[in-house]
Amino acid sequence: MIITKSKPKEAVLRSLEDHERVFIVGCGTCATLCQTGGEEQVNEMANILGKKACGKVVVETPCDIRILRRDLSSHSNIIAASDAILALCCGSGAQAIGEFTDKIVIPGLDTLFVGETERIGRFYERCRACGECIIHETGGICPIVRCAKGLLNGPCGGMANGKCEAGGHVRDCAWVLIYKRLEGQGMVEKFKEIRKVRDRSKKAEPQELKTR
Ligand code: SF4
Ligand code: SF4
Repeated sequence: MIITKSKPKEAVLRSLEDHERVFIVGCGTCATLCQTGGEEQVNEMANILGKKACGKVVVETPCDIRILRRDLSSHSNIIAASDAILALCCGSGAQAIGEFTDKIVIPGLDTLFVGETERIGRFYERCRACGECIIHETGGICPIVRCAKGLLNGPCGGMANGKCEAGGHVRDCAWVLIYKRLEGQGMVEKFKEIRKVRDRSKKAEPQELKTR
């Protein structure tokens, strides 16, 4: 899931200062779960904007142009007459809205990371979309994200009592977690394998995937 947080209301209002008619688009998937762009947040923003809010909708998945087309079709006239769209969704969804409508898009959220959900309000970064997954070598734990230094062969000299030096030995060292997981799986030999420097060309930007 894409984890987002709301921009401060004052910052959003400042970004909308020059726009008279603002259409608000929320996200029925990730941003709803994050409580940043669901029905409640879209309605709250519409109330804050008052007359400036000319319309609103929560699109099921704004990052999917097909769904965007379906969910915006009944609002096309209002959107056409609007000055700008306030996007309460991730950056990918916000850009899809801009491409699809050709309108100025103001992001109402900051996109943080690809995350795992423990419960509403508790999300943890687990993947950085590196383009070459290696967690089968590391006990199902991603060192790129969970090691503060992104080390492929750890732990570093800063680990103490199983805790990471970054942040003051509060969080678990990823490489200690990896060792314990591999040990539990009877695969501790994997820990001793030296992982080579990554091929950064696999993450050349911007990425595309076209299988058809
Ligand atoms: S190695 Fe880590 S960052 Fe790369 S794809 Fe796997 S989980 Fe994501
Ligand atoms: S202490 Fe562990 S998690 Fe922290 S930077 Fe070093 S190897 Fe990475």
